[in-house]
Amino acid sequence: MKLSSLILKAIFLTALISTFLAFIINTFFEYKKFQEEKQAIKKEFIAQKKLELKTEVNKAFNYILYNGNILESKVKDKLRRRVKDAYSIAYKIYNANKNIKSENEIKYLIVTALQNISYENDDYFFINSNKGRGILFDKKSFLNTYNDVWNLKDIKGNYLIRKQSDIALIQKEGFVNNYFKKPNENKEYPKLSFIKLFEPYDWHIGMGAYIDEITTEAQDDVLEYISTLRFGKDGYIFINSVDKKALVFDGEKLSPPKTYPNNEIFEKELKAISNPEGGFFFYKFKKLNTIEEYPKLAFVKRYDNWNWIIGAGAYIDEIDIELLKKEKQLTNEIISQTITILIIFIIILFIIFFISKKITSYIESNILNLVQLFKTSSLNQEEINIDKFTFKEFRTIAKNLNKTLRLRNKAEKKVNDLMDIINKNVNISTTNTKGIILDVNDSFCKLSGYSKNELIGKSHNIVRHPDTPKEVYKSMWDDLLNGIKWEGELKNLKKNGEVYWVHIAIHPNYQKGKLVGYTAIRQDITDKKRVEYLSITDELTQTYNRRYFNTKIEEEINRAKRNNYYLGFIMLDIDHFKLYNDTYGHHAGDLALQKVATILKKHTSRASDFAFRLGGEEFGILFSYKNENESLEYANLIKNEIFELKIEHTTSTVVPHITASLGLVVKKGQDIKNVQTIYKLADEALYNAKASGRNKVFVSN
Ligand code: GH3
Ligand code: MG
Ligand code: MG
Repeated sequence: MKLSSLILKAIFLTALISTFLAFIINTFFEYKKFQEEKQAIKKEFIAQKKLELKTEVNKAFNYILYNGNILESKVKDKLRRRVKDAYSIAYKIYNANKNIKSENEIKYLIVTALQNISYENDDYFFINSNKGRGILFDKKSFLNTYNDVWNLKDIKGNYLIRKQSDIALIQKEGFVNNYFKKPNENKEYPKLSFIKLFEPYDWHIGMGAYIDEITTEAQDDVLEYISTLRFGKDGYIFINSVDKKALVFDGEKLSPPKTYPNNEIFEKELKAISNPEGGFFFYKFKKLNTIEEYPKLAFVKRYDNWNWIIGAGAYIDEIDIELLKKEKQLTNEIISQTITILIIFIIILFIIFFISKKITSYIESNILNLVQLFKTSSLNQEEINIDKFTFKEFRTIAKNLNKTLRLRNKAEKKVNDLMDIINKNVNISTTNTKGIILDVNDSFCKLSGYSKNELIGKSHNIVRHPDTPKEVYKSMWDDLLNGIKWEGELKNLKKNGEVYWVHIAIHPNYQKGKLVGYTAIRQDITDKKRVEYLSITDELTQTYNRRYFNTKIEEEINRAKRNNYYLGFIMLDIDHFKLYNDTYGHHAGDLALQKVATILKKHTSRASDFAFRLGGEEFGILFSYKNENESLEYANLIKNEIFELKIEHTTSTVVPHITASLGLVVKKGQDIKNVQTIYKLADEALYNAKASGRNKVFVSN
């Protein structure tokens, strides 16, 4: 990913996320505020409605209470006033006629005057004597007959006439409550009467009013009035009776009353009026002049005297409509806010985009410059041109890169020089764990005469010399497979067949603790080997020389002593060689010596066996690991093979061809004293071999 596009993306994302978050948080809080406000408004609205309802109901209630309360006094006033009117009529008649007319005539006038006075509801005056005679009774005159009402009782068993007479005589006037039948009816109704003593004739004049009629009348008036009451938008007062009759319903007075149509609401009303102060309840009801029902709150209060339920309801959907309006308004606000924010965001985004584009293009060009310059600089080993950068930071980077480049170039040169030296002088090859060559350096190619391509992928067998004993490679692989460094001298073959010697050190290579292959470092030691070879080799026979014998026998004796194994030593002398020389010449003698040496070399090819020319025509053979019998066999084998050469020697006394005598010493390491002893024993054995007829092996004991 490009740095510039990453920066651009990061800026874009940051702007997007922060704007989005700001918007979400703002909207969230605004909405939350609105929800809280909504609840508060609703609560306030309900509270206000409650107050309004309570006020309106209480107004109606107080009106009813007032009317209820004044009902009795109003009736009493009326009765008192009327009775007093009747009294004054009667008295005026009496006064006007007392001196001119007889008592009966006056009585007649009074009764006649009062008999037909009626105000409302067929009410009427009555006159009784205080002794129990009904004068004007039940709207009829009893002046001509004696109407004895003294013992008249109402349905409650009260002597009502006696009670009226008592009041008239004792208090002169007063109210009486009793039961009395209505005219033309037999049923008795509670009645309130006012009576006044009419002294001239010991009468009492009175008028009564049937209480139910008065109450019904008053109630009618009250209901009529209340049904006209309105408040608020659709507010009205309703009145029901506790026995489930609707009196004022839906803003209208019902006459006659109807059964309240909704049980559920009525139950709620009953529950609410159990509180004497009144109570609220929620319900659903249709609006005036509609059929659909809306949520409503009502307040009801009971008027005990008349068993009325006075109430009023208010629709509370108004607030929901209002709130819905508000919510819509808020939604619109949020939407317009969103659009504004979006526009601002897009503008900001454009600005950011252009600014960041500018910045990133600067950065990018600087980076590109840096990369380009660094590339060419590191390729051409030049320094970066610092002037090509706009930003200080990049100049600093470039400076540091220059420093690094300088150091690197220096180090590279040093490494290259060293590599050159190594390449030229040290032979290096690497192989995998199976010994397959993975890489070789120039020096090794030069030494072996093979090209890199010829070596890579091949085994090291390609340079192996067939003379090298197998044991050498076995011990080498034993060490290497165990991860141990191996070091030694190896005889190798060049591509052209030339022999060369190397000192080789093979190091196991590890990767993450796992053996992955080997690195071999060789030194060409051919020259050294040649010198060494010359110094220990007899020039004529190419066997080891006497000097080498002197060191070798010491080493071998010590080795045999260390491990206590058999060490054998054969001293070999050609028979009558002086005669041979004399017969065939010195040169032929040399050739014969070389042929005999070939046999010796052939039988000392093992790493533990050596053939030496000890001097003249005398040879020594050192060998290991053979017991006495094996040693004797070995010595005889050599003796026989020399015999089998059949080099003509006519002057020999043994046979007419060359033979040799062998003195053999075989000793276990621990039994060997020193070089001198073993040498002496071999010499003696040789002597004995000669003495016993030549062409013999004599074993020292
Ligand atoms: P024998 O050992 O059987 O008793 O008899 P011999 O003739 O071999 O005895 P001797 O050891 O005395 O003789 C050794 C001879 O070997 C003397 C010399 O002529 C000969 N000789 C020694 N060195 C060389 C050499 O390098 N070349 C040749 N051609 N002859 C040598
Ligand atoms: Mg000799
Ligand atoms: Mg000899």
